Amino acid sequence: MMHRAITLILSQFLMLYSIGQDGVSFHPPVKIPMYLSGNFGEIRSDHFHSGIDIKTQGTTGHHVSSVEKGYISRIKVQANGYGKSIYISHPNGYTSVYGHLDRYREDIAAYVKVMQYKKQSHTVDLYLNRSTFPLEKGEFIAYSGNTGSSSGPHLHFEIRSTAQQHPTNVLSYNLDIRDQLAPRFHTLFLYPMNSTGQINGKARRFSSKVVKDQGIYTIPYGSTLEVSGSLGISVEVFDYLDGTPNRCGIHTLEMYVDNKLSYSHVMDEFSFSETRYINAHIDYEELIRSGKKAHRLHRLPNDRLQIYNQTLENKPLFVDESRSYAIRIVASDVAGNSSTLEFTLKGSKPSNALPVSENEDNVYMKYAQVNNFEEGPVRLEIPANSLYQDLYFSFQSSPPANGSLTPFYHIATREVPVHKAYTLSIESPDLDPSLHKKLLLISRTDKGEVVSAGGEYQDGHVVAKLRNFGEFAVGLDTIAPKITPLGNMRFIITDELSGISKYEGYIDNQWALFEYDPKNDLLFYLFDEERITKGTDHEMELYVSDKKGNVNLLHTTFNW
Ligand SMILES: [Zn+2]
Repeated sequence: MMHRAITLILSQFLMLYSIGQDGVSFHPPVKIPMYLSGNFGEIRSDHFHSGIDIKTQGTTGHHVSSVEKGYISRIKVQANGYGKSIYISHPNGYTSVYGHLDRYREDIAAYVKVMQYKKQSHTVDLYLNRSTFPLEKGEFIAYSGNTGSSSGPHLHFEIRSTAQQHPTNVLSYNLDIRDQLAPRFHTLFLYPMNSTGQINGKARRFSSKVVKDQGIYTIPYGSTLEVSGSLGISVEVFDYLDGTPNRCGIHTLEMYVDNKLSYSHVMDEFSFSETRYINAHIDYEELIRSGKKAHRLHRLPNDRLQIYNQTLENKPLFVDESRSYAIRIVASDVAGNSSTLEFTLKGSKPSNALPVSENEDNVYMKYAQVNNFEEGPVRLEIPANSLYQDLYFSFQSSPPANGSLTPFYHIATREVPVHKAYTLSIESPDLDPSLHKKLLLISRTDKGEVVSAGGEYQDGHVVAKLRNFGEFAVGLDTIAPKITPLGNMRFIITDELSGISKYEGYIDNQWALFEYDPKNDLLFYLFDEERITKGTDHEMELYVSDKKGNVNLLHTTFNW
């Protein structure tokens, strides 16, 4: 009887408080069952996901509470990113982060509003000491929401090491999140790493759907491919968690060649300063071509991520044409479920197929050094270590289009990732000097849409720092943002080219707190009895400017 009672208490304790391997325990951040739409380390645009995304049943307003005792050490409010967020420092050496919140607990909200009026800015980044908002484990802090760069209601939840602010793998703290499903392989990619590489006699990229046969994933060609030279291999593989169809990230990935480990990575922790190396880690060319997110099974020379097994070379495969290679790729999740993909690569004599990437007209750029390039009106300065590997740099141009003032210059290709920003300058056409500050670089997407690439006029050129290659030209933005009133102090604000940079709202000549929600182009004011007198006429002025200094002003009166 006594034993049963203890077991019962213990199991209840385990349900409420999860205990990680190192004895760190966390209370669940929400009261609803935790189903995830995203997990730690999954592949996102230019970064690894730094936390988990907890589904909130399609609605906002769920209670969010502190996972451990501690104090609010930071409150950040921004239009993009995590929107409204809270950071809590805990005595156990971790910081928990809660993002996309709808609104803060009343006293916290009041504190934030005072600071926003003091700074006259909706965007604030506040660092707090331990006495402002001390918290108990499980204490209510905010309501879940959909603010910032969020594509649906959910709670973004992170656990960082406080000292380094490194995000860590939330799933390794045994929160009550079920995962009995093994990762699934979807697609296999092989590609030449230099002029020697060939797959089935062709010097170009090869992809194959993956099939499952008797519990093992394989490729549907008798599992054998004929190859030669230097080869890159990458796999599209996702983990799936119980109760949701969402594709999540895997925890570990290993490749064995003839039963010998040749590549391995583990997703337990990373730093924000290295997260952009994801573009080296993934098969970036495949991402741009098909949108597929695939992990490489080798490490590019300038990939500085710390996730790789440092005792391995993690190199591309170099095929000896006289033998075969048994390839086994194993992916696993934090819960220990794993899946295996097996196939054979048969070494063969290379055919006369020509490589597509190494055009002799192209300039060979070494990734570790500064690379300058100049042709006609175009100048490029690529800092050392901006590329992940050496590059046959291509340059072309095509006629002006989509309102550009110059031809479009094709700077390498979109399929080549860029780590550190490079400088692109294109000679400006002759224009009235009053228009110089309205000049910018524009880039053309593969769908033919024109978007701003930023930049400024400098000594007869338009100069921008860029973190991607592609097609660029000089453009002009003289058009102010549009403001469309929706009623009830809600406005749609849009800008055609350079983008919204600033907005200011005044009510009765006093600065007023307007909130901007860029994903919905929405700007709104919440009527505030503490700041404006109820039951009278009011005057409102709203200024919205774009990044080229074009300003629109809306002046109106309203009764509230
Ligand atoms: Zn998230």
